[in-house]
Amino acid sequence: MIKLTQPQPQVYLETYGCQMNVADTETVTAVLRRAGYSSATRPEDADVILLNTCAIREHAEERVIGRLSDLARLKRERPALKLGLLGCMAQHNRETLLAKAPWLDLVAGPDAYRRLPELLGHDGFDPAVDVRLDRGETYADLSPEYMAGVRAYVTAMRGCDRFCTFCVVPYVRGRERSVPPGAIMREVHALAARGVKEIVLLGQTVNAYRHDATDFGALLRQVARVAGVERIRFTSPHPCDMTDSVIDAMAAEPKVQPYLHLPVQSGSDRVLHAMARGYTVTHYLDLVGRLRRTIPALALSTDIIVGFHGEEESDFAATIALMRAVGYDSAFSFKYSVREHTRAHRLGDSVSEEEKGRRLAEVIALQEMISLEHNRALIGSEFPVLVEGPARRGAGRLAGKTPQFKTAVFPDTAAIKPGNIVNVRVESATGHSLAGVIV
Ligand code: SAM
Ligand code: SF4
Repeated sequence: MIKLTQPQPQVYLETYGCQMNVADTETVTAVLRRAGYSSATRPEDADVILLNTCAIREHAEERVIGRLSDLARLKRERPALKLGLLGCMAQHNRETLLAKAPWLDLVAGPDAYRRLPELLGHDGFDPAVDVRLDRGETYADLSPEYMAGVRAYVTAMRGCDRFCTFCVVPYVRGRERSVPPGAIMREVHALAARGVKEIVLLGQTVNAYRHDATDFGALLRQVARVAGVERIRFTSPHPCDMTDSVIDAMAAEPKVQPYLHLPVQSGSDRVLHAMARGYTVTHYLDLVGRLRRTIPALALSTDIIVGFHGEEESDFAATIALMRAVGYDSAFSFKYSVREHTRAHRLGDSVSEEEKGRRLAEVIALQEMISLEHNRALIGSEFPVLVEGPARRGAGRLAGKTPQFKTAVFPDTAAIKPGNIVNVRVESATGHSLAGVIV
């Protein structure tokens, strides 16, 4: 075991990347708590520092390498300090990583968290490495230590079987597996008992969830029956798995909120085919039409990649046309980043950095315009807002989310607490938020 001056070793965890990683950090915290570790709030106070990393784009990896160099200073001052890397980057490129950061003590992939106490006990000269992927690991028996406020993220499914040609997720997170519904429901009941009002079900293709006879529509209906849970969301659904069962559950269950993050990636059939996304623009637009007819209040957001290998100006124009046709409420857009191990890796990178930058700027500018238009059209309307806490900007204001997952800010009054749902009438809007008064 590591030699420590305190009775309980302290661990400092830092999380990069998506909500799945945030949820994984909560599982890691629970594993380490059971093994006798407590949490440090600053790296300077910790006996163990763990970075839970993201490998989705090169930029994400560069950030972590930079951070590791900063932390190496602490390690020089205190050689007994253990420094470890968890998650997708650990899985993706461990050799390069260990060459760039030879002072690492530990490298553990997303299926190795159960073994962390053992790995931390390793005292050899070489770092402890465990990047075995495990088709059966769902951590279903482990209750994560949620950092939840009014909203909690519950993992419904791990891994991904879709193998989109640009994406590293299936290689770093392994094959798709669903958490048994009983384990999900146990977490949801415990969270509701703690006062959590909103549950977000998580998975890389969360709507492909299936465990024996329970599909994702059935899971949504089960979660909706839990008293105390007021709102249910999920992310990210894949367009191909948007079955009638899921759409019907969304329409039938008032707790399932009218908001969907439905990644499209591109508006060109040629590019969608090269990405192996499994749908065409027509399929996607049909789905959007069906969703909007069934759930009239629905807000939509998406992910867009610009500059995928082979993306011509005409393909990009098709993406812009699709954005206009759908009219998303918001969009996350990324420059294509070639990732080792993926199928598109060997194709190369035909669009220059400069051109990717230009296309990205155009997507962002268009989305800002559409978001602003949508939000301005809401002025005068009223929405039930789940209060989260003080607004980031502007003292004396509270912030929360509308059913459509739009941020609403309004004047603070002593009577209102996080977790309350208040009716807000919108008085002004930007592309990113709504401002109003309680009515
Ligand atoms: N599973 C989700 C889906 O298929 O819709 C997405 C998960 S991924 C963590 C989040 C987003 O990152 C993707 O939707 C995609 O837009 C983006 N992304 C993934 N790989 C990328 C790459 N190589 N370069 C740029 N963006 C990428
Ligand atoms: Fe990656 Fe595609 Fe799986 Fe999403 S569905 S995680 S983009 S492989």
